[in-house]
Amino acid sequence: MSDSKTMPAKITKNESEWRKELTPMQYAVLREKATERPFSGEYEHEQRKGTYTCAGCGQTLFESDAKFDSGCGWPSFTAPAVDSHVDEERDVSHGMIRTEVLCSKCDGHLGHVFNDGPGPTGLRYCINSAALKLEPK
Ligand SMILES: [Zn+2]
Repeated sequence: MSDSKTMPAKITKNESEWRKELTPMQYAVLREKATERPFSGEYEHEQRKGTYTCAGCGQTLFESDAKFDSGCGWPSFTAPAVDSHVDEERDVSHGMIRTEVLCSKCDGHLGHVFNDGPGPTGLRYCINSAALKLEPK
């Protein structure tokens, strides 16, 4: 992939390497695009300040300041910590048109972004807890 300054270098690992490093839940979400059950994730009600990094590769994804209680059952954020750290792709699976959110470094599936969030972005990044790791401040 690109070596330009704006894009982080990609991490590529094969399936067995990921399986070794990730928990079964993390693997299902990040590598197989599973969605954890609503209201089941460890960070849904997380209140601590800190930085949410990718559970797959450690890249910074979201700051706790952007987290809000959307009531949707998953951790929700108004914006990524760094725009280039998340990729967004059109997802037409399950009979819906949604925008998938991926880690730009390891291509891990994080969740989806919806345009019904609070201001100023109007966005709601609905992210699986299993894809995140909180590093408390
Ligand atoms: Zn990652």
